[in-house]
Amino acid sequence: MNYCSHCGAPVHYAIPDGDNRERHICTACDTIHYLNPKIVAGCIPVWEDKLLLCRRAIEPRHGLWTLPAGFMEQGETLSDAARRETREEANAEVELDELHTVITLPHVSHVQMLFRARLTAPVFSPGVETLETQLFREEEIPWDELAFETMRRTLRHFFADRRRGLFQLHVEDIPQAPPKGG
Ligand SMILES: [Zn+2]
Repeated sequence: MNYCSHCGAPVHYAIPDGDNRERHICTACDTIHYLNPKIVAGCIPVWEDKLLLCRRAIEPRHGLWTLPAGFMEQGETLSDAARRETREEANAEVELDELHTVITLPHVSHVQMLFRARLTAPVFSPGVETLETQLFREEEIPWDELAFETMRRTLRHFFADRRRGLFQLHVEDIPQAPPKGG
């Protein structure tokens, strides 16, 4: 941020009085611009024993597979966002079950929250940000072509929970960017 979104004057980077970390502060109107982490909402759409994955038509990780997920919009609930992203990326309708993973990525200030979900029908097709949509059995998951470490972890937890017949919420952190492709 270089300019104040309130008045257009330049901002500087400093610790406000009574605060403990640096913020963007307007040099004219003194507005403090707080930046906070973003929430990525999504789901694991299930049909029978298969999961729906989307192959990305956008950067980053163009051409790799992911679960439907994206940034929450203002005024939206977490579950609305998960359903909307699934509709936008896969033209699919889901009924959400419990929250399955909450993964924090402090280096990019994202918190990813993914629900388990059921497709209401085996009807799906690529949205504008997707090259391809496909149902996969566990043994068919393209582990080496997944777009994100968060998705790899979410899928591993899902299959492990399903095998033992007990789903639970998994809360974890990924402190640094994993190695490329990792
Ligand atoms: Zn200002």
